[in-house]
Amino acid sequence: MLNENFDYDLFVIGAGSGGVRAARLAAHSGAKVAIAEKYRIGGTCVIRGCIPKKFLSYSSKFSKHNIVAKSFGWEYNDANFSWKSLIKNKDKQIQKLSLIYQTNMENSGVRIIKSSANIIDNHTIVLDDKKKYSAKKILIATGAKPFFPKINGIEHVISSDDFFDLKDLPSKVIIVGGGYIALEFASIISGLGSKCELIYRGDKLLKNFDADISEIILKELQSNKLSIKLNTNVTEISKVEDHYKLKLDDGTFTHSDIILYATGRHPDIECLNSNGMIKTDTYGRIIVNKSFQTSIPNIYAIGDVSNNYQLTPVAIREAMIFVRNEFEKQDVKYKIENIPTAVFSNPEIGTVGMTENEALLKYKKIDIYTSTFRSLYYTLTDLTDKTFIKMLVDNKSQKLLGFHMIGDDAAEIAQLMSVLINKNIKKSDLDNTIPLHPTTAEEIMTMRNKITKEL
Ligand code: NDP
Repeated sequence: MLNENFDYDLFVIGAGSGGVRAARLAAHSGAKVAIAEKYRIGGTCVIRGCIPKKFLSYSSKFSKHNIVAKSFGWEYNDANFSWKSLIKNKDKQIQKLSLIYQTNMENSGVRIIKSSANIIDNHTIVLDDKKKYSAKKILIATGAKPFFPKINGIEHVISSDDFFDLKDLPSKVIIVGGGYIALEFASIISGLGSKCELIYRGDKLLKNFDADISEIILKELQSNKLSIKLNTNVTEISKVEDHYKLKLDDGTFTHSDIILYATGRHPDIECLNSNGMIKTDTYGRIIVNKSFQTSIPNIYAIGDVSNNYQLTPVAIREAMIFVRNEFEKQDVKYKIENIPTAVFSNPEIGTVGMTENEALLKYKKIDIYTSTFRSLYYTLTDLTDKTFIKMLVDNKSQKLLGFHMIGDDAAEIAQLMSVLINKNIKKSDLDNTIPLHPTTAEEIMTMRNKITKEL
């Protein structure tokens, strides 16, 4: 396929979930492809995001599972947790995954270049060693990196990226933020037995989620290991002997071994070389059209670096659409809606479709079904864990609009509910389905507790 005027048909910058998928698929379709990565193959999701986070999250749940195990007759001598062995096992698996990504690309004929890459003109990339390559199409898939607000002492904080490599588990961690990473790491740290204090500037955790989810998760997360302070900003950080002191805007101070900022991730646009050639929005995200074209038509961007959603499966879907359309002459439309999403906190959150506010605004009259119950799994213990399920239904058409859940397996269930919402099923379809007893998901088939709201 190679156009003789260029070294490559496609040059991908960034070997994360989106970049790797695009490179591999394009090479399969016959294109001559190179990919440049400045760090490790796998990107945020594999190396310092979804996958290692899920390992830590699984580990943190054993403190509760051990209590449940006792209620089912299991007796343990002292249960001890070793951070070092968790991190060692995690590192081993991440290394394996990174290698699989690399091998898959090599087997597909992709040339892997371990270097930063900068775009110097519409068709030219320059590497660290100053070598230049030309490409007919360039795909930017460089992801995002942690954002830190500018306050005095911010150099003392770490991001979730750094947490994975700590030598020891700190005895106390302060987390700043109220989004995905803040809640997931607060659950991990407290579940592993350390103290955690979460400080959030707003009055509603996960502010874009359904309001009931925000309210319930706030109550469910707090424990003797985890405290949450809302409506609070950190104004200054200083090092005092072997720990850090934080000044808060309510005039009080707090202390911690480690401070983790989870204040969002901003696009990594170093490869643009600050030359203003490619347009970005006010958040620094590369502006793309429905075909992922940037302001320079032969340069494309997908994943967290672009102005679409910051989620791994979205980046992978974008990579697929990009290759189908640009290298296989197909016409796949970019239509991404009803993205199921989960927060792997403890308890877990799974959600898909509209929030109550969004549904009311669009449909004007909706039926809201909710159920709060104790899962059978916990009934032999004194634990007070509850499962919460909320479903939103258009009053007129009876179409299912949204599903929100807090409790065990919420993410798994939300994934399947996303199919039902995409298929426009009605509440009666659920009512007519035989529940599978005894399960948590059977509750979805038997929801009767309804209120109707109208705008
Ligand atoms: P989020 O956008 O989820 O949350 C960022 C938080 O930081 C918000 O609570 C925000 O407050 C707060 N914040 C932003 N700026 C400041 C500031 N200057 N001072 C104080 N607080 C501030 O980002 P995360 O960092 O948690 O995660 C990054 C991205 O990674 C997410 O967008 C998500 O898409 C993805 N991700 C997905 C996961 C999953 O699918 N399970 C897991 C982890 C990450 P406010 O609400 O007031 O704006």
